[in-house]
Amino acid sequence: MGFEPMAWWSEATRSIQAELRVQKNKHLTGLNICLIMKISKKVSSVEYAIRDIVSAAREIEQQGKKVDYLNIGDPVQFGFQPPDNVKQALIDSVKNGKNFYTQSEGLPELLDEIAKKENAKGLCIDSKNIVVTNGVSEGLDMVISSIVEDGDEVLLPGPYYPPYASYVRLHGGKPIEFAVNLQNSQPDIDDIRTKITTKTVAICLISPNNPTGLVFDENSLKQIVDIANEHSLYIICDEIYDKIVFEQKFTGIGKVAGDSPVIILNGFSKVHLMSGWRIGYIAFNDSPQLDMIRENLPKLARVRISTNLPVQYAALESLRGSQNYISEFVAELKKHRDYVVKRLNSMNNISCFNPQGAFYAFPKIESNPYNSDKDFVLELLKEKGVLTVHGSGFGTQYGSGHFRIVYLPKMEVLESAMDKIEDFVG
Ligand code: PLP
Repeated sequence: MGFEPMAWWSEATRSIQAELRVQKNKHLTGLNICLIMKISKKVSSVEYAIRDIVSAAREIEQQGKKVDYLNIGDPVQFGFQPPDNVKQALIDSVKNGKNFYTQSEGLPELLDEIAKKENAKGLCIDSKNIVVTNGVSEGLDMVISSIVEDGDEVLLPGPYYPPYASYVRLHGGKPIEFAVNLQNSQPDIDDIRTKITTKTVAICLISPNNPTGLVFDENSLKQIVDIANEHSLYIICDEIYDKIVFEQKFTGIGKVAGDSPVIILNGFSKVHLMSGWRIGYIAFNDSPQLDMIRENLPKLARVRISTNLPVQYAALESLRGSQNYISEFVAELKKHRDYVVKRLNSMNNISCFNPQGAFYAFPKIESNPYNSDKDFVLELLKEKGVLTVHGSGFGTQYGSGHFRIVYLPKMEVLESAMDKIEDFVG
């Protein structure tokens, strides 16, 4: 990371304040009014490009311009809603007085239903090996804080979903990206091998992936599990988009995990359209190597008491009730994907591979007249009012030179946004 004025100022302030405490120098005390209190280096390393970029859009709006937001992967903001039976389950829970703290690991009926879901995907787990969290985001924080110490390295697929790197840094570790072939969805196994060091503690997978929409096949998953086992690494696999796949079949890592130390992160924000209700889970494979984390991570769940109980009843209903709404959602998304990818590939200087899952396109800027992919995105916003996310926000090594588009909006919004992008690239 380059020079950070706030971090520098905060550090300088801390030194002056420390000096003040020692010297009790009355003359200097007057300075206190302009001293900004120090924050930790850890927190200043946290980044989330998907939302950090929004401040630029707000400025454009303040100038009276309309902005099309194609930056956040939240289906519910684009008109997709949880089905009525799921909404009703939440309302019933509230009305029936289920408004109290619940077990820290989660509502037992929900844990059973999640275990069924994950077992059906191939994992071997018992409901006692699951912890319900406030979204995958909290689950990720709990897992990373349980395994990463200062200087530890964590392998991430490049490009990656930004919180993976942020949480690794926050807990003192170092994110290391490995290459993935964007054309055929294959992780570069040789690259993974060369990037494993004595400091590596875990390898993370996200399939289907954010930001690329790529899906790892069974063979790739098996190869990664084998390497991880060779080097005694945790395998953390984010399957939050597990039912949002198009032509390619989804394979859960559980299918090839055997008794490897696999930890699954999953949730209800995407497939189940419950993003704002904040619920997800951690599922531990039945591996003896996971005994310590299985015993200790729940302490983090206990210290934050519990997750939202009415939402847990809604999540239970979303797993038990009809799943038809998911196939309707995916069929609609496929239309959006086909349209957006076709339009992007017909534009000058843009090329886009076909994402196989999730709801993101990750086009490449073949020839960029601006200094960086971020400048490209900011100019597109300024000139055309279309907000996307710069690829380098998903890791500079493999994300640079791209941008990410969320294709959740209604077709007419996508049509107009594609026209504007086409105009912009000329
Ligand atoms: N994991 C991935 C791969 C995501 O893309 C996202 C959201 O975009 C999340 C996790 C966040 O999940 P949650 O809403 O459950 O915190």
